[in-house]
Formats: sequence, C-alpha cells, structure tokens
Amino acid sequence: MKIVTIKEKECQAPEACDYICVQVCPRVREGAVGTVYKRENKKAAIDENLCIACGICVNRCPYDAIRVINLPDELNKELVFQYNVNSFRTYNIVSPMEGKVVGILGRNGIGKTTNINLISNTLKPNFGDFLNGASEKEIIRRFRGKEIQPYLEKLYKGDIKISKKEQSLSFTGKVREIVKKNKYKLITDEIMDKDISSLSGGQIQSVAIAAAMDNEADVYIFDEPMNYLDIYQRLRIANIIKEKLKNKTTIIVEHDLVMLDYLTDFVQIMYGSESNYGIVSHLMQTRVGINNYLAGYLPSENMKFREHEIKIKGNVPDGSLETLASWPDFNANIGQFTLSVGQNTVYRGEIVGIIGENGVGKTTFAKAITGLVEMDNGRLELGLKISYKPQFIEASDVIVRDMLISIKRDFLSSETFSGIMKRLGIDRILNKNMKNLSGGELQKLAIFSTLLRDADIYLFDEPSANLDLEDRLEAINIVGSFIKANKKGAIIIDHDLMFINAISTRAALFEGTPNKSGRMGNITRTEEAINSLLKRVDITMRKDPDSGRPRINSPNSRLDIEQKKSGRMFEI
Ligand code: ADP
Ligand code: MG
Repeated sequence: MKIVTIKEKECQAPEACDYICVQVCPRVREGAVGTVYKRENKKAAIDENLCIACGICVNRCPYDAIRVINLPDELNKELVFQYNVNSFRTYNIVSPMEGKVVGILGRNGIGKTTNINLISNTLKPNFGDFLNGASEKEIIRRFRGKEIQPYLEKLYKGDIKISKKEQSLSFTGKVREIVKKNKYKLITDEIMDKDISSLSGGQIQSVAIAAAMDNEADVYIFDEPMNYLDIYQRLRIANIIKEKLKNKTTIIVEHDLVMLDYLTDFVQIMYGSESNYGIVSHLMQTRVGINNYLAGYLPSENMKFREHEIKIKGNVPDGSLETLASWPDFNANIGQFTLSVGQNTVYRGEIVGIIGENGVGKTTFAKAITGLVEMDNGRLELGLKISYKPQFIEASDVIVRDMLISIKRDFLSSETFSGIMKRLGIDRILNKNMKNLSGGELQKLAIFSTLLRDADIYLFDEPSANLDLEDRLEAINIVGSFIKANKKGAIIIDHDLMFINAISTRAALFEGTPNKSGRMGNITRTEEAINSLLKRVDITMRKDPDSGRPRINSPNSRLDIEQKKSGRMFEI
C-alpha cells in the first residue's frame, strides 16, 4: 500500500507554481490525466491508486510539499481517520482506560492532538472516507472487539462528559470568567482578578488547567499541560492531578519525560512520519512504554520505528579548569526586583544549568552578565561575548535562509553548521517565512542561530519549550558537543529535569520570592543542585537503570522513604 501526502500550506499552486507536479508526472503524460490533478481549492492532488510511486514529482516539487510513502498492506484496515485528500492520517486510536491515566508519547505532528479530538468527539473516525464520514453506528461496528468500542458507545450516547485542557492557549478575557470555581486553588486570588492578556505563559497554562479541573467530568484530557510552567508548578500541578483525579479516566499528552512518567499508569506511543501519518501503539505500562520509546522498538508489536536507540546520560565534566568567565559578588535592582549573586566561575567546555521558580531572577542574571542591566555599582564588564536565546522568540517577516545569512554569511559552507542544521531539521525550512513556522521549528531555529553567533558564552533561556522529546535529546547532543569541541561555555535555564540533568555538568538553583527578590545559589554538580531543589518540595528521584532517565519515586515508596532518610533526594 502507498500513501501520498501533499502539504496544503507548502503547495504554492496556483499563485507561485504552475503545477510542476502535473507537468512531470509520467502517468499524466501517458494520458492518465487524473493521476495528478487540481483540487477545487486549486491545490495539487494525487490519486493514490493511479500513482505509480516513481518519485519524480516528490523530487521536482520546488516547495517540497509531496511525500509518497510505502506502508505494509495490513495497516490499511487500521486506518481510523484522514482529514482530507492527500492529508495526514492516523492508524489505530488512543484508548482511554477506565479509572486510569494514559499518556501519549510521540513527536510533534504525529497525530496526538488529532487522536485527542477523536476520543472527545471533536472529530469522528471516518476510516479514510473523508468525504462522507461514518455514522456513529458504523463507527461502533468497526471497533467491535477493541478497547475503544464501549468507550465510544457511551460517548455517542452522551454518557461521558469530557473536560479538556487544549494544547493551544487561546483564551481572552478575565481569569475569573474562565476559572469559575478554582476548586483546587491552582490560581491565587491576585491572579483571579486579572485579565488573561496581562499574564505570563506559565500563568495562562495554570488558568487553562484550573479551568479544566473545575469541571465535573468522567474523562479529563490534558494536551501538553507542562509547557511554560516552572519546575515547582509542574510538580505541584502533577501532584494535584494525581490526588484529585484519582480513579478518573485521564489522558495526558506530554513531552517532559519526568512528568509523563510520574503522572501516568500506562502509555501509548505514536510513531510514523510527522505530518504524513501516525500509528498508535498498544497500551503499555508506563515504565516499559517509555523505555521502549527510547529504544525505538516495540517488542509486543515487533516494530522498530527508529533507527537508533536514545540514551539519556548525565553530562560529565571533562576536567578542564580553564576559567572562561568569573564574576564578583553583585546585586542588581530592576524596578521592584532585587537579585543577589555570589562570586562564581564558568570553565571552558562546560554547560551550567540554571533551575528555579519563575520570577526569581534567572533571566535577569542572564542579562546582568551580558552587561544589559545596571548593577548597584554600574554595569558588569566581564569582557565576554554572549550569544543569547531569549525565552520568547519573535518571528519576523523574513525568509529563514536570509535571517541566518544575516548572522553568518557563509554558514552553509561550514561543515559544523551544515551538520547541526540537518540534525535540527533546519535544512527543510530554509525557504520558509519565519512567520509560518511551528513553535517547535521556531525554537530549533532560535537554538541554531544562537550557536551561529560567535561568542564566549552561549546562553539559552528555556530551550526545551515546544520541542518534542527527540528534539530535546538532539538539542542536548548538539549543544553539548559544540560547547566541548569549541571550548566555549553555556548557561542553560530550563524546567525539564531530564533535560537539565542530561545537558549540564554543573548547575545553580535560584531561590527567592517571585517578582520581589532572588538569589543565585552556588554552581555545584548538577545532581547536587537538583538535590537541593527536590529538598524544597520533599520529592525524591532516582535514575532508571535501563535508560538512565530520572524518575520521581512514588511518595512513601520504599525508595522514597530510604532516600529521604539519607538526604539523597536524587539517587544516581
Ligand atoms: P501532534 O498533536 O502529535 O503534534 P496533530 O494531531 O496536531 O499532531 O497533527 C498531526 C498532523 O495532522 C499534522 O501534520 C497537521 O498538520 C495535520 N492536521 C491537523 N489538523 C488538520 C486539518 N484540519 N486538516 C488537515 N490536516 C490537519
Ligand atoms: Mg498536539
């Protein structure tokens, strides 16, 4: 079986493209006119039955919009949903489990949100018949014998009430109108009185979660709940979901592996080809499922879905003690906020992680050592060049290639940078306008352009935001080897503990009262900094022996009790 996808956004017909795909098709030339044709909306379309998969149009499309993919024939009977002609489709379906928390793990664009919509009646399975759809009766019949069948039966009867935290946070208006009850006190009174437009990303995410949890429902769905939340908010919200939604049927999509692991009982993996098709795996127990995902292999389905295995290692210092930067004790006052920082040193070839609550001065610190803010005694002059990736990335109206050339003219002829570019998938977006990039693409572009700038210290503010797990791990490897190979230094602020643990050799914990005052702790081994953070929240973690990923211990489990007693909150 073959499937053909044409990305509607990429296809530039009829304005900028004269249907090159139609012109080059050997079948069309032979007279099989319907093989490649114009849709009503003037975009190109390909008849998947007539197409002979020669690949000519795929190679000749100037906008790289076409994919022809061979799939095993058996898969065809698992087709659950297709949006449109030559569009994305999903095989099999996510299955809620009564009274349990099921996690969904997979790359951006693999169909997680599509599946969430299928089980919340926002979309209906159409089994590929996107023109006519399928009746509810037909849907129930087609799923006979599957876990999902009784669920959908109840859903269509109206016997299941769903409360959903959507992935995109498109709220407007007053917080109080969105979070009516604030049942679990997720939102402070102060914020309840504000308007959404005045809130930070983390606060808006909390509002969305609080609103979803306010509803009385049978099924709770959270599509990427941890984005923009700081580490304390993540842990707090995870604990509230675990406690208050106990025995509720819950579905969670999340790329923060520590949180996904902590929150869920089971997982379903989605694999396939991003924005072309996605396949939903069987349910697996969370620990096994995550480890299979990292291994890229599903034993129960005998399915290898990734060429390489993902290893999560802690970064180890290379022993270099060559000073790259030192700063003295200093205080910085910005508006109402005071930051105090102790004397410290960053060595060549090392990556320093920064962890801590939102609003306690992490970004202010970054700006201070860059010389961007006034100290009590003037600006810091460290004589360093710093390349800075801000937390929020603005997309300007410019073609990606031109933007990159403006940073480094000859980046395309540099072996190092063209390698990094491919690994981050930037080569595929070079001709796109920055305004049309997805959140993940924008983040990868920002990471890449930060590395392109010549500097002594590379400073990344929340680089994991909007990245899927594979991207996070790729970013860890890329930044890690770049910094080591070039004997530079990096400072990375992030809230994903797997990410911070794997990318940094040393780290500092920021503490304080949000938006009033903050203090930067000493730079210590990363495990020690994480240890101090965990002490503050009375949570213990260990490393999974198979994959090396950090896992939160269940409260009051044997390990939890032992580690608390010994004070080793993070056992490695
Ligand atoms: P995920 O949540 O895993 O990131 P999504 O379910 O959002 O993935 O998207 C999967 C694919 O489906 C993407 O390629 C997306 O462009 C496509 N898609 C989403 N909505 C539509 C739609 N209404 N019409 C056509 N394609 C869509
Ligand atoms: Mg999604």
